[in-house]
Amino acid sequence: MSAQARGETLAFQAEVRELLKLMIHSLYSHREIFLRELISNASDANDKLRFQALAHPELLADGGSELKIWIDYDAQAGTLTVRDEGIGMTRAEAIEHLGTIARSGTAEFFRRLSGDQQKDSQLIGQFGVGFYSAFIVAERVEVFSRRAGEPVAAGVRWESRAEGDFTVETVERTERGTSVVLHLKPEAKEFADGWRLRALVRRYSDHIAFPVLMRKEGAATLEWEAVNQAQALWTRPRAEIPDEEYRSFYQHVAHDFADPLAWSHNRVEGKREYTSLLYIPGRAPFDLWQREAPRGLKLYVRRVFIMDDAEQFLPLYLRFVKGVIDSGDLPLNVSRELLQRDPEVESIRSGLTKRVLDMLARLAADDPQKYAGFWKEFGAVLKEGIAEDAGSREKILPLLRFASTQHEGTEQTVSLADYVARMKAGQERIYYVIGETPEAARGSPHIEALKARGVEVLLLGDRIDEWVMGQLTEFEGKRFKDAARGDLELGSLAGEAEREREHAALRESKGLLKRVKDALGERVSEVRVSSRLQDSPACFVLGEHDPGAQMRRVLAATGQQAPAVKPVLELNVDHPLVRHLDALGEGEQFGELARLLYDQAAIAEGGQIENSADYLRRLNHLLVRLAGIA
Ligand code: ADP
Ligand code: MG
Repeated sequence: MSAQARGETLAFQAEVRELLKLMIHSLYSHREIFLRELISNASDANDKLRFQALAHPELLADGGSELKIWIDYDAQAGTLTVRDEGIGMTRAEAIEHLGTIARSGTAEFFRRLSGDQQKDSQLIGQFGVGFYSAFIVAERVEVFSRRAGEPVAAGVRWESRAEGDFTVETVERTERGTSVVLHLKPEAKEFADGWRLRALVRRYSDHIAFPVLMRKEGAATLEWEAVNQAQALWTRPRAEIPDEEYRSFYQHVAHDFADPLAWSHNRVEGKREYTSLLYIPGRAPFDLWQREAPRGLKLYVRRVFIMDDAEQFLPLYLRFVKGVIDSGDLPLNVSRELLQRDPEVESIRSGLTKRVLDMLARLAADDPQKYAGFWKEFGAVLKEGIAEDAGSREKILPLLRFASTQHEGTEQTVSLADYVARMKAGQERIYYVIGETPEAARGSPHIEALKARGVEVLLLGDRIDEWVMGQLTEFEGKRFKDAARGDLELGSLAGEAEREREHAALRESKGLLKRVKDALGERVSEVRVSSRLQDSPACFVLGEHDPGAQMRRVLAATGQQAPAVKPVLELNVDHPLVRHLDALGEGEQFGELARLLYDQAAIAEGGQIENSADYLRRLNHLLVRLAGIA
């Protein structure tokens, strides 16, 4: 016997060790989920074999061609076995699949864990625990497997006690596929019980499309009976499926152990035929922002599983959606490349996009609180749709939510419909302002006068907001207006008397504006009297199409240089400092104070000032002088 065949002991990947440790403790109260996970894997293995057998029917020859799943137990020995006749694993595959976690971003995810068990157990569900959940109830797990098409001598036995390593050896195995044998912990022996197991299968795995068989209790001879419905859930009529089953099916397809927020199950008949079952998860997966993270739907063609993560059926901005699409028209040998070109797929995609957006609209109307939860998790992704999918913009706009000056704090959000409904008499624009965060936007000097007038302002702070908002023109006939750009377009919000006062201020300030512009030189393109300030002495204003502070930060972060634009400096001519400035004669003090106001405007944008030491010197100089102590 070769050394290889005799077996070797290998260490788990560090992340697996971490996962095992965390999971065993934090999921103890949900420990029965292990069964669902193992049945789910058996079902996946059967699916994969059936798919490969389309091109290689001989793969089904060395065992049953009717694919099934068996569950058996031995109360005496305290063991529990889940067996399938699916695709199986080679020795190398067992090492890879049961010893590592391949998903990108895994290491990063584990670095983020806090060590606080309560919090981490929330996170662990986002991750999907899978096969390793067997160790919640088992002190030792053995896996016997043979890959379909491989000879009997090429079986593998894998074993571990979850203590940092596992062993593998090559064994003979007549049966195709995989048996997972759990040696139950003393306190988990209750699972080696027929009634308990039957109840769990019905509760969590009824939707599995293959028969799940168990030994008939009390029968004289060995007889197996199916304990689930063994019919693919999505093929059943909606009215017959209880919510509970929709939820457990979600947990199977999404590898999530929390409940989904909503789902939509539809059959399309006629020129094209397909069934879709789409879910909105309750929580963002840990790798939502990773480019290579798996996304997309499970694709079936006439009930035959074809592939996981078929991303062609939904646009990128709906990448959080999970579920199944079963097409009646696509060929069974469809590949990812074919999917990319197929006009059929394009049309299903626009149908599904509409379904998802409608489902979200329904959720928002029926259960605003749940919708708020959705927005918190996925709003920043959905927003990408404004730019990415102009054709769906009308459907996406009502789904947007914003922090607003209407509410303290950023937790409570408003919709555009809310905003428009309470616009002031004479108000013609939907005002918004972008800061580094919504909270920073709330403090922006640009909205001081709007706030003072009681005009609501939407507060934005996502990285992509400047890009997204730049694409928007109007909602229900009301144009959007960035409060930090150009003219505020107050229209009839400003009364006759007020406009008169502004004109007077303009006339009186002409001289001051020119002197400030001369003092600041090329730093600014223009100096103006402001109508947006209330408490602050000065602010910068951008042209309608200049890249804003946020865009500059994003560009800088990716190593790009934003085109240089000179801001307009606006002065609050009612502010005591500006009045003081006006009163100063030509000279050093005037220049210093003008420069101070300029730097403050830059700071208020969250921007960099040229020389902070210089700025502080000027500020302290001024403070000392105003305090009359020097
Ligand atoms: P997931 O199912 O999300 O991929 P799991 O932790 O449940 O993650 O399983 C890890 C991998 O182990 C699977 O992707 C599969 O490659 C392999 N595996 C687990 N169970 C089986 C099985 N019964 N038959 C074949 N392969 C399996
Ligand atoms: Mg799994």
